[in-house]
Amino acid sequence: MKEQATIVVMLGAPGTGKGTQAVLLAERLGIPHISTGDLFREHLAAETPLGIEAATYMNKGELVPDEITITMLNARLEEDDCENGVVLDGYPRTLVQALALESYLDSIDEELTMVANLAVPEVLIVKRLSGRWMSKSGNVYHAEYNPPKRKWFDDEDGSPLYQREDDKAETVLNRLKIYEAQTLPLIDHFREEGKLVEFNGVGEINDINDEIFEALQ
Ligand code: AMP
Repeated sequence: MKEQATIVVMLGAPGTGKGTQAVLLAERLGIPHISTGDLFREHLAAETPLGIEAATYMNKGELVPDEITITMLNARLEEDDCENGVVLDGYPRTLVQALALESYLDSIDEELTMVANLAVPEVLIVKRLSGRWMSKSGNVYHAEYNPPKRKWFDDEDGSPLYQREDDKAETVLNRLKIYEAQTLPLIDHFREEGKLVEFNGVGEINDINDEIFEALQ
């Protein structure tokens, strides 16, 4: 990575819209959006050993072990397109991962630019996730808030949409429990380091993105 790369971490429970915001922000900044969940799903689609192992945790809504996740992410950060920075989505999710990220950045004379935390009430989160539909190409729809033009097919390429295995109601509740136990401590950690900026995740997608973008300027 170059000096003064922009390294943003998007924090927030599943369903707060952090993925949507991370994609938009990365586009505006002209840097890659890196989602560890997407990386695991790509590995699974390609049936790599890493993907098959990760799926055993993902399908239960559990976190993939730190060692596997950290190794995969650090390898991704070393790719050329990360030169000017990255928007990280879904990483770090544990204190161990946060410390690993900071020590990696330290080793290349970089530091986190900002940790954006999106807050959304839990009742809304469950509603958002259980109505979520995805396309193979990565478009995200919602049965109520953002329905496709034709039920349940992608607007762009007409391919059938699917629901994520881990978006089922009981798995969603488990993911939220795990988030509280493992990821909430990160908020305190980044707050203590003066890196945390909090955003309200309820509202117009573009308005929320403007706020995050402006906070970076
Ligand atoms: P996501 O797409 O971010 O909701 O992630 C889907 C699933 O991938 C999670 O429920 C975890 O099983 C796994 N996963 C994604 N990111 C991480 C991470 N940083 N650490 C451990 N597991 C992860």
